Amino acid sequence: MMDARVLEIARNAKGFMPDDEGQALHDAALTAATSVGGPLLEIGTYCGKSAVYLGAAARSASTVLFTVDHHRGSEENQSGWEHHDLELVDLTTNRMDTLPFFRRTIEAADLEDCVVAVIGYSLPVAMAWATPVGFLFIDGGHALDVAMADYEHWARFVRSGATLAIHDVFELERDGGQAPFKVWQRAVSDGFVPTSTTGSLRILQRP
Ligand code: SAH
Ligand code: MG
Repeated sequence: MMDARVLEIARNAKGFMPDDEGQALHDAALTAATSVGGPLLEIGTYCGKSAVYLGAAARSASTVLFTVDHHRGSEENQSGWEHHDLELVDLTTNRMDTLPFFRRTIEAADLEDCVVAVIGYSLPVAMAWATPVGFLFIDGGHALDVAMADYEHWARFVRSGATLAIHDVFELERDGGQAPFKVWQRAVSDGFVPTSTTGSLRILQRP
């Protein structure tokens, strides 16, 4: 159960995480962190909406969430694309910058001591990363090469018994882009065991 005030902040934050999926994400992260331990790791922070659900789980399990993003937005967030939000453009450079929004969200949720922002491109961070995690959430770029590269570079840090979560998984093309579904299929073929589905959120476990 999430604290009502924190839940309200998650619900009101800008982002792409329906509340039922956010709560399922929280519950899966909390279960993983209490059974196999932390830390928790997220690829794709945006304005911190999912980081509030995950950060609350980190707090309850006395661990931390690392959340990786260059804060410049994905292709589909850029000007002229479907998920563009004018408020997120830095007017001095005309580029997207979601970092100030993330900071406000995490400050409001009082999670600054358990949510650690890693600001940069996913792959260079992965190359230097060495810490096994109890929970990995992949929700970064949704182009097939980007999403698959995230999986290939980060999944090896999911230790035995730990959890992998993938967002925006749609089996049918008419419901959404196919890249996360292809990543999910790849994870299953690599031996991850599907444990639950909530909307487009798929949870799997490394045996
Ligand atoms: N989890 C968020 C939504 C993430 S949107 C929520 O709950 O609302 C996807 C994010 O991935 C964007 O913020 C974008 O900047 C980031 N992203 C895309 N490609 C990336 C890459 N190669 N490295 C780091 N971040 C990336
Ligand atoms: Mg998503």
